[in-house]
Amino acid sequence: MILNNVDFETYFKHYPDENGYFGKYGGSYVSPELQVAMQDITQAYFTIAKSSKFISELRRIRKEFQGRPTPVSYLERLSQKYGDVQLYVKREDLNHSGAHKLNHCMGEALLAKYMGKKKVIAETGAGQHGVALATAAAYFGLECDIYMGAVDIKKQAPNVARMKILGANVVEVTEGLQTLKEAVDAAFAAYCKEYKDAIYCIGSVLGPHPFPMMVRDFQSVVGIEARAQFLEMTGELPDAVVACVGGGSNAAGMFAGFLNDPVELYGVEPLGRGPKLGDHAASLKYGTEGIMHGFNSIMLKDENGEPAPVYSVASGLDYPSSGPEHAFLMDTGRVKYDVVDDEETVDAFYELSRMEGIIPAIESAHAVAYGIKLAKKMGKGSVLINLSGRGDKDMDYIIEKYGIR
Ligand SMILES: *Cc1c(COP(=O)(O)O)cnc(C)c1O
Repeated sequence: MILNNVDFETYFKHYPDENGYFGKYGGSYVSPELQVAMQDITQAYFTIAKSSKFISELRRIRKEFQGRPTPVSYLERLSQKYGDVQLYVKREDLNHSGAHKLNHCMGEALLAKYMGKKKVIAETGAGQHGVALATAAAYFGLECDIYMGAVDIKKQAPNVARMKILGANVVEVTEGLQTLKEAVDAAFAAYCKEYKDAIYCIGSVLGPHPFPMMVRDFQSVVGIEARAQFLEMTGELPDAVVACVGGGSNAAGMFAGFLNDPVELYGVEPLGRGPKLGDHAASLKYGTEGIMHGFNSIMLKDENGEPAPVYSVASGLDYPSSGPEHAFLMDTGRVKYDVVDDEETVDAFYELSRMEGIIPAIESAHAVAYGIKLAKKMGKGSVLINLSGRGDKDMDYIIEKYGIR
């Protein structure tokens, strides 16, 4: 398939290019010192992570530790409710530790081990990435420093407890607003000092090259599995594939399996309380081109051009930009990006729980809400939704804020 001069048959050979660009997006905008560390990681990735030894070890881990392949489930009752459209979900909620994030954390931590590093470093907002990385670090016997804003530490007590039980060192960040942005700055600063012994592990398809590429590649197992499973179950490909987009890792992994197929791809961003700046985190829909956290993409900016405050009921989608590959795929027209708001999301959260016995992560419920909207619009065909994680972490908050519906 060729769209706007991009040949999707050979896409993975050319995107990103050797400097980490997807068209004009991506790159590596970091200090010269960090640039050296990024080049080290890039080189290690292309030599170590492409070796058959690494690949077969990661395959074994995915099978024996993570519980992969995760299944694809047919949503029988929901499909009946919305007429002739068949709805399916890819069950990343059944991946060990409850979400897709472990897919790239195991890859990054295995690379750290092969590179002879002793420690992994990361930031976390809601704590999901921190928990996944702490899990990987425990498995490989690596030290793990997780930087987290003081405000988030108070809000996310269960995830803080999980990280500590898994042996991670949770470092409290008390600068500025004491949330994710300050935690990213602190983790980067720590990494600058420790890059000889440590590796920075980004939580999504974000940051300087090679991270958007590496995280996508490690997540592509989701799309590759789902494509084969869907074909085996139905004899065909789905008409549409849907995934939620925060930083964009679960979507990038899912879409990777279908880019060269005649399948409509939809990325779903959180509209939160509405389209006013500060009320949502729909960066691709409302943002403009800009550089932050080491990469060029589309981002939401305040009046000073700084990353704008964002909001979503799903803290995992609460980021003022999206990965550079998504900005590129949007420009090519290959993937369509759209939004659903908090209310539609909470309705979908309950609907999937009540009608199918699956409690989704509130992030993933955005994709479910959009899949249902799409089903109503399509009238016939099939939709495959990436269920990026399970909703245990969200239950208390949803009941407290929205009540039982
Ligand atoms: C973190 C998270 C997301 C958002 O991250 P992406 O990089 O956009 O995938 C989505 N779903 C769940 C369950 C998460 O934990």
